[in-house]
Amino acid sequence: MLFSPKKRYVVQTLGSEVLRRKAAPIPAVTAEIRELAEYMYQTLRQFDGIGLAAPQVGHSLRLVVLAVPPESMSSPPSPGERELLPQMPLVLVNPEIVDRFGDIAVRDEGCLSVPDIFAPVPRPSRVILRSQTLDGGIITAECGGLLGRCIQHELDHLDGVIFCDRVEPDEKRLIESDMRRLERYGSKHQYQRVITR
Ligand code: ZN
Repeated sequence: MLFSPKKRYVVQTLGSEVLRRKAAPIPAVTAEIRELAEYMYQTLRQFDGIGLAAPQVGHSLRLVVLAVPPESMSSPPSPGERELLPQMPLVLVNPEIVDRFGDIAVRDEGCLSVPDIFAPVPRPSRVILRSQTLDGGIITAECGGLLGRCIQHELDHLDGVIFCDRVEPDEKRLIESDMRRLERYGSKHQYQRVITR
């Protein structure tokens, strides 16, 4: 439509102060929280990601949206993948990891807040996620595979941690100049990536 208002989707990038803050718990799911979750999901789609935490869109709140592709299911799948992958997109309210176990798995990660930079991140291969849902339910699920990794990555954002912080020193050296370049670029663009559509 010729005169339809354009929507702006904004993701905070490395160097943005809100990405380093510990996010606040959500006391109640209000209309504003639902609206924020919807905006986060639309933003995730526009930027073609699989997970997004509220600090990445500038809100220091413990809210995460996951859109991990069902095709990523491990074989055999963890119970959490079997339960949660068919429910994507999934909104997590005040999520926590109550336990981590299994081997340490190393896999390349990227982040919408750290565009074009990828590095291997060691993480426990299984976690137990506990979270509220938008409709007041509680999820408790043992998650592995890409889902388990994505949960750890997104929940890190709620504590001000970015995946680059967890990269081993030898690998970190390889991305440090790119990270500095991104922060310099960000400082001239309010640390924001914007899509207008
Ligand atoms: Zn991220």
